[in-house]
Amino acid sequence: MKTPKILRTYSETIICPECELQQSATVEIVDVGIPMPSCVHTCTGCGYVIMESEWNEVNPQTKCTAIDEDLGIIDELLNPQTQTK
Ligand SMILES: [Zn+2]
Repeated sequence: MKTPKILRTYSETIICPECELQQSATVEIVDVGIPMPSCVHTCTGCGYVIMESEWNEVNPQTKCTAIDEDLGIIDELLNPQTQTK
């Protein structure tokens, strides 16, 4: 077992499904063979563990499960020599 390499991280503002507190959560893009966003966050208000399926982001532009914009960046990280354009 090797630990997945973290390619990059970013923060987004999410709302806890339990207490509806808005808070900043860190998303890790990990390399598990393919780049995958890892979205798990413990609510700072109530301690509830927010999983990806309950990820209620305030700004849908940075949606955890739709990282189209990031995929280009991930591609560059994985293939620094390859310019696919
Ligand atoms: Zn909460």
